Amino acid sequence: MWALLYEGGEMPMNPVTVLTTVMFGAGIMALLAISYGVIERSRIRPFWRSIFHGMFFGAGAILVMLKPIQLGEGVIIDARAIIVGIAAAFGGWPAAILSGIIAGAYRAYHGGTGAPSGVIGIFMAAGLGWYWSWRLKPNGEINIRDTATLGAILALYTISAALLPKEVFFQAVTTVVPVIVAGCIFGAIAMGSLMERERRYIYSERNWRESALTDPLTDLPNRRGFFEKVNRALSAPNHGRTDALLILDADHFKRINDTHGHPVGDAALVLIAEKLKLILDEEASICRLGGEEFAVFLPATSQPAANQIAETLRLGIRKAGFTHDGVTVPLSVSIGAVMRSAASRAPLISLLRSADNALYYAKEGGRNKVVFAEPLES
Ligand code: GH3
Ligand code: MG
Ligand code: MG
Repeated sequence: MWALLYEGGEMPMNPVTVLTTVMFGAGIMALLAISYGVIERSRIRPFWRSIFHGMFFGAGAILVMLKPIQLGEGVIIDARAIIVGIAAAFGGWPAAILSGIIAGAYRAYHGGTGAPSGVIGIFMAAGLGWYWSWRLKPNGEINIRDTATLGAILALYTISAALLPKEVFFQAVTTVVPVIVAGCIFGAIAMGSLMERERRYIYSERNWRESALTDPLTDLPNRRGFFEKVNRALSAPNHGRTDALLILDADHFKRINDTHGHPVGDAALVLIAEKLKLILDEEASICRLGGEEFAVFLPATSQPAANQIAETLRLGIRKAGFTHDGVTVPLSVSIGAVMRSAASRAPLISLLRSADNALYYAKEGGRNKVVFAEPLES
């Protein structure tokens, strides 16, 4: 953590100044932990998130270098190495490289006798932090022992002090290095815990969100997840293309439950969900609307293409050969469908209503059928 660089000339600081400087460094680290959380929560791609971490932590390292602790004549320490090391340990390799370059460039620009060892030390901290995340970081939760190990590893960057002029080096080894090792471990525990707290919050937020939007039986998005995704698609520009919405309803499903029992009914629903996932491509949004009903949204799809997809789904489920205790259980779906013209502003709820209406005719017409409603034009 606490880097050392040789400045020459200045007098040691008094305890109050040391304390305010430590508080300043701690404040920067806390702000960086918050920035880490904000960036991780954003919708940006992981690579760019890592780049942002690199920029913020690089800037943070510069800030702590502006306000170092002076331990003795010509010997100063600051939190740059812990900041760069943590960026590398938690932010991924782009963050390691970028924060190292930003902090290293500033240290080189600052100059002085300590510049070569300072720059090398910063890159070593980045490399050591990245090494920890690569070889030692646990997959699950990170505890105090892990962050203490990180701090001890980051302290190895003090080897860069060997590049200092000989007389400064000996002074540094006897006075500063023990302080740096302790500071590294303490700093990594403090900042690592803040980062880990953010990481855990983000992880559990994502988990809760996922489960709020997912149907536990079929693992498909539920109605809420479907509305969220499809409404986003419907509000995006559609470039003059038509969209299709299908509702699939299992035929005589009550009979399956009554004859074979509820667990067999559940297995049939899982099988239908698997068929849907297998047949439909990435572009399609699928959901379990509720009960034995599923919905499929097909963006940028013509009516003939939508009809063909609906027929493929219907036949795929019909021919799936669902069996229980060696007995084939007849399984089929009726499908109600509707097209939404390019100019239409109809909301999802209207599409569902029209498709549901068409579904009624599919049931009336004998089930195991696809019926299209009148397309929604406005
Ligand atoms: P139709 O062909 O007209 O759609 O007849 P149906 O029997 O499928 O329709 P109905 O709406 O009368 O019955 C739906 C059945 O689906 C009743 C309900 O018990 C069953 N069901 C709904 N959700 C589940 C579920 O999660 N698991 C099981 N096993 N059955 C379910
Ligand atoms: Mg139904
Ligand atoms: Mg049904």
